[in-house]
Amino acid sequence: AFEYAPAPESRSIVDIKPSYGLFIDGEFVDGRGKSFKTISPSTEEVLAEIAEGDAADVDLAVKAARRAYTRVWSKMSGAERGKYLFRIARIIQERAREFAVLESIDNGKPIKETRDVDVPTVAAHFFYYAGWADKLGYAGYGEDPQPLGVAGQVIPWNFPLLMLAWKIAPALACGNTVVLKPAETTPLTALLFAEVCQQADLPPGVVNILTGAGETGRAIVSHPDVNKVAFTGSTDVGRAIAKAVAGSDKRVTLELGGKAANIVYDDAPVDQAVEGIVNGIFFNQGHVCCAGSRLLVQESIAEEVLAKLKRRMKTLRVGDPLDKNTDIGAINSAEQLAKIRELSEIGEAEGAERWAPKCDLPSTGFWFPPTIFTGVSQAHRIAREEIFGPVLSVLTFRTPKEAVEKANNTPFGLSAGIWTEKGSLILWTASQLRAGVVWSNTFNRFDPASPFGGYKESGYGREGGRHGLEAYLR
Ligand code: NAD
Repeated sequence: AFEYAPAPESRSIVDIKPSYGLFIDGEFVDGRGKSFKTISPSTEEVLAEIAEGDAADVDLAVKAARRAYTRVWSKMSGAERGKYLFRIARIIQERAREFAVLESIDNGKPIKETRDVDVPTVAAHFFYYAGWADKLGYAGYGEDPQPLGVAGQVIPWNFPLLMLAWKIAPALACGNTVVLKPAETTPLTALLFAEVCQQADLPPGVVNILTGAGETGRAIVSHPDVNKVAFTGSTDVGRAIAKAVAGSDKRVTLELGGKAANIVYDDAPVDQAVEGIVNGIFFNQGHVCCAGSRLLVQESIAEEVLAKLKRRMKTLRVGDPLDKNTDIGAINSAEQLAKIRELSEIGEAEGAERWAPKCDLPSTGFWFPPTIFTGVSQAHRIAREEIFGPVLSVLTFRTPKEAVEKANNTPFGLSAGIWTEKGSLILWTASQLRAGVVWSNTFNRFDPASPFGGYKESGYGREGGRHGLEAYLR
């Protein structure tokens, strides 16, 4: 039993309105009557009524984005665009507490993470791409690279504001305008971001935020006047989008699912590796595309690693996202909780052994304890499918070759981790792994200057760094 410790960033600092419209051409406008509710996954309380954009709203937003692109944004110098992006970055820093609290309430993730990871990384991203806006000639496109036009961007619920920053910052830096749809369970920080655009005096139409579900997303990606589609989400929807745009001249980048291997060799610093395993799978309730959801541990140290991992898991605090001591917050939705439960039951039915520390979970809201499965084989569904929750599948290996074979035995290829003191083993292993990002002796580390993206069914295109500009320039 831990004492409840409300964060200084408490609920009272955010002003959640009873209802929200769509953000089109610099203004909040009413939708055409359809709406949905966003709820807090930790309390199941209805937070607000949110307008659902339809095809006609999407058309208005794309037209506004086209006007802003043609008349203002693509005509402006890079230095001028950079000033707006710097201004947005500074406003996000000034309003960081508000953003952190709102994200924790709407998404369910702990305030410790929104405050120390999500929001600072968002500001860093805007600062980083603000710096590129007047240096695009150095991005590998010769002296005069051109923007693509209107970008249609669709994002998931696991890092709502951060995914928005990954999409909007490079698009704007390069001179494109955007129509972005946040996920239906987490629209609030994107709508607060729309207010930031107004506060920064961003020219109307440069950023348009359309809330809604899959239908709204479909209308955005298939709109004939959208030149570039940027999507982050599940592999299934990514496939549907690739089909929807096939044959058009739209450029597409897809950031999809993952099933990362976290490889622990027998000489690894065990305590450090255990922290990395915990961070790899329990950060953000495991709602992380690059989560280290498959632990591959060398047989000779498996027992020691598992004993230490279980001891560490007993200290993880699951509960109120606004408690600053919380390590694991709420599962984002009832649907996601059902999916995690179902795959965990399948794991048991297939013969893997399930273990979780005893935790008192709150009676309302959506919760799942940090869980590990041992005795997992490569054929088990929990070793192959993305669970997208705080559930780790543990496998063992004897040789580095076997580790690499098992790590690569997945339809995905987004990220991986390597734990060893031997530099040569890190370099060899990394060179063998078919994964877009490989961390060594750390996990889930991000920097706006470093590109991120997948192999295989984890998608194509890179976001972040200089490479992230390529998706928005010709
Ligand atoms: P999802 O694919 O269900 O939804 C993502 C977004 O697409 C939502 O905004 C949704 O409304 C919209 N959408 C749904 N159907 C659509 C359609 N037919 N056309 C256009 N838009 C549509 O994914 P999710 O459940 O929100 O997010 C979880 C998934 O996202 C996981 O698979 C995770 O791995 C992945 N993800 C990947 C990355 C990455 O960078 N590779 C980052 C974060 C999350």
